[in-house]
Amino acid sequence: MHSFLELRQDLELQKLINVSAKLGRDPLQVQGPGGNTSIKRDGAMWIKASGTWLAEATERDIFVPVFAKAFAEAVRTRKPGAGNTRDFAAKVENAPPHHASIETCVHAVLDWPVVLHTHCVETIAVAVRKNAELLVSEALSDLEAVFIPYIKPGLDLAYSIIERTTPKTRVLVLGNHGLVATGNTVDGAEALLLEVSRRLSKLNEHENPPTLCAIPPEALGAGWMAAPSHKTQTVAFTEHLIEKLQANTLYPDHLIFLGPGCAIAEPGESVHQAAERASAGDASRKLVLVPGRGVAIPTDSTPAMLALANGFGEIITRIPKDAELTYLTKSQEDELINWDAEKLRQELNKKAETA
Ligand SMILES: [Zn+2]
Repeated sequence: MHSFLELRQDLELQKLINVSAKLGRDPLQVQGPGGNTSIKRDGAMWIKASGTWLAEATERDIFVPVFAKAFAEAVRTRKPGAGNTRDFAAKVENAPPHHASIETCVHAVLDWPVVLHTHCVETIAVAVRKNAELLVSEALSDLEAVFIPYIKPGLDLAYSIIERTTPKTRVLVLGNHGLVATGNTVDGAEALLLEVSRRLSKLNEHENPPTLCAIPPEALGAGWMAAPSHKTQTVAFTEHLIEKLQANTLYPDHLIFLGPGCAIAEPGESVHQAAERASAGDASRKLVLVPGRGVAIPTDSTPAMLALANGFGEIITRIPKDAELTYLTKSQEDELINWDAEKLRQELNKKAETA
């Protein structure tokens, strides 16, 4: 097997670190701790650690070593406990003491040496639509792209990828989730990822003028502030978007960091009252939309919550008026909220944010 240490010294890994930081700092590709990248050779893989931010890739060591071939084999043969990333962690001198990303099995089952996964807003704005599969096949037909309908990230997603891809597949558009681009080289995978974003952006709305009015202080009440993004504020002023948001969550990280969907204030209701009412008996909603006035989030929002609130505006305002959407079902929301690996990721993110 190729040595983990050799691969760590490889120029391609240095390139991956640079591209990871670039993608991580682009709010149209990655929001907060979302997204992950990896490089593998001869069964050895370095992959982003859970709870870390791609944006920090050049500032701190965020890649951890994993036995990718053994992991992929366990998943392919449906070995009991195949989804346990920790069992495939490699011990390498001076490697950071982090757990590998909860999406490691997805990277492991893709045979390409380089795998880049982002929560690209142009992609998600297409991937939440009922006709996403058709749109993807039309727009990306020559790029060996496959649409994977939403399924819980991690092991279930890896199984679905094995079923729906061939060794030729280079691009995955993940329903209600994001984008995966692969390649033999970091440059090739990055170019492919950007090309997919560019093509899918043509299917999206770019005409919504960002609003400049933020929600007035008297509508906010203690503990709430205007979401600091013009695009996010715009949602509250766009009738067809408010209508689309009456249902549940559109993609996992929104649920994980901001709660299910958003609370929509009724006439005369304060932000606090709307959040309380909408959250009763449920996970609490951290994003409150006051139609015609603006969008609020808690004043103690973490950097990850702010990044996701910003991404919400970027994604939602790109959805065309006539688009019909697929939402996560209540049981899909519940399985994410109660997922131990996801709880761990949030813990690690909190630690990283306060470190
Ligand atoms: Zn993801």
